[in-house]
Amino acid sequence: MPKLLPATHAEKWVQDVYNMDASQAQKEKIWLSRMRTVIKRAGDGVYRESQKLNAIIERYNQILRLRKLIKPGDTIYTTLDHVSASGMMRHITAHVIKKNRPIMLNYAISVITDTPMTDRGSLKIGGCGMDMGFHVVYSLSYCLYRYGVKCTGPGCNSNDHNNGDQDYTTPRNHGDGGYAINHSWL
Ligand SMILES: [Zn+2]
Repeated sequence: MPKLLPATHAEKWVQDVYNMDASQAQKEKIWLSRMRTVIKRAGDGVYRESQKLNAIIERYNQILRLRKLIKPGDTIYTTLDHVSASGMMRHITAHVIKKNRPIMLNYAISVITDTPMTDRGSLKIGGCGMDMGFHVVYSLSYCLYRYGVKCTGPGCNSNDHNNGDQDYTTPRNHGDGGYAINHSWL
């Protein structure tokens, strides 16, 4: 029997991409392919079964799924389901609209950004003093585009353009992927 690898082995292998001596675009490719490889290896029984392994696999599955479903420049719409009496806790629901139909993203966002959900399926967001709907979308976008994002051209939402940079035509990468997806309240 070959020795089974721990889940941390898979996690470290995927995280290691960050420190590679490669361009952001190359890192992104390697990162995506390593997540797919880990999912396949888990199916082949390379790793030791554990809750942690299940969590990692589910996270990678959801990242790859949302990377296909949502594209840079798309908008995620949030609704406020509930505010706690203290004002310190918000329950938020997120949707993206595809082919004229809303697709609920709460579960995927919960898994990808490690955010708890309520019994009713809302995202449970603590804290206040900032736009928590924006925070949800920024955090997700950052996890999906952790190696930055290509400029989407005119209308591109990157904060790079807020700093006086009005160049929307030269093909290039923005370092902060958190702005890849737009946010709007419903
Ligand atoms: Zn841009």
